Amino acid sequence: MIDRLIDPFGRTVDYLRVSVTDRCDFRCAYCMSEDMTFLPKAEVLSLEELERLCRGFIDLGVRKLRVTGGEPLVRRNVMWLFQQLGRHLDTGDLDELTLTTNGSQLSRYAADLFACGVRRINVSLDTLNADKFLAITRWGKFDRVMAGIDAAQEAGLAVKINAVALLDFNEDEFDRMIAWCGERGLDMTLIEAMPMGDVGQNRADQHLSLAEVRRNLEQTWTLQDSDYQTGGPASYVTVAETGRKLGFITPLSHNFCEACNRVRLTCTGTLFMCLGQNDAADLRAPLRASADDEVLRQAIHGAIARKPKGHDFIIDRNSTDPSVVRHMSVTGG
Ligand code: SAM
Ligand code: SF4
Repeated sequence: MIDRLIDPFGRTVDYLRVSVTDRCDFRCAYCMSEDMTFLPKAEVLSLEELERLCRGFIDLGVRKLRVTGGEPLVRRNVMWLFQQLGRHLDTGDLDELTLTTNGSQLSRYAADLFACGVRRINVSLDTLNADKFLAITRWGKFDRVMAGIDAAQEAGLAVKINAVALLDFNEDEFDRMIAWCGERGLDMTLIEAMPMGDVGQNRADQHLSLAEVRRNLEQTWTLQDSDYQTGGPASYVTVAETGRKLGFITPLSHNFCEACNRVRLTCTGTLFMCLGQNDAADLRAPLRASADDEVLRQAIHGAIARKPKGHDFIIDRNSTDPSVVRHMSVTGG
């Protein structure tokens, strides 16, 4: 019988998000500073170690895995990891293997991802304007991401667009993006900017309330309540005119913590039990201490026993200090 992961508040943890690298080929302004210092390669777990860690979680009842980063598809040989993880779909031990990506490498990898059992992916795209895209990602190539989305759809992957809602940047584009997603058969999620990591500007200057965005969208679109739930911070509606799902991720509100089903693993083997807290458990030491997976399983249980009830995000206009010191690219959202 599986010794499931149940936290002190009775929530079953069956969803693991794995950041396979902190590196990225973009420098999105809300995510990273321009001159990021990345982890020395020696500190990053090998793909074999990451695979063993994931297997440890699957043994303990994790049913869904999301690979993220940094940009996961820039990690060398990452398809090997997808192949290994995809085997758990074949055995029925895993329900879903998925990916969050900036889309820059999808033209190259979309078909391989499908072959590994991936069926749905999230692609981050904050604007449909190529100049603005370059401005916000600093290094990104818009046409390449568009080609990547084409390749993903051609390969049979369902694509959801993730857009961070940023004040004075893209609030005038959401109508167009919703229409575009409708035409292309894409779902979309709007994300409130979270105060994670020092990005060299006051977070209050980026913050756009999604409650306000939603009120504005309702002038143009019929947003029908949907009972679609993921156990995460998104609430979904169906856009009647397009038939597509539209999600609102409002991490600064607390209303999703009760149903939280997830933990986040970094590429150094650190487990964050809550996106909005600094507490973390080191799984690298137990992983390396013994070839016996029981040691690892005990360490995972010990970490889940520390999962907090909820997060403590605050955006303070008088301070530029982030309420969570790590950047989003450490855990991958
Ligand atoms: N590089 C991949 C990508 O961009 O999709 C995966 C990692 S990225 C950190 C995951 C998601 O986090 C992206 O959708 C990105 O827009 C979002 N993100 C990054 N920093 C954020 C922040 N401070 N607040 C809200 N969302 C953020
Ligand atoms: Fe890279 Fe994704 Fe962060 Fe943008 S949001 S810098 S693509 S990790």
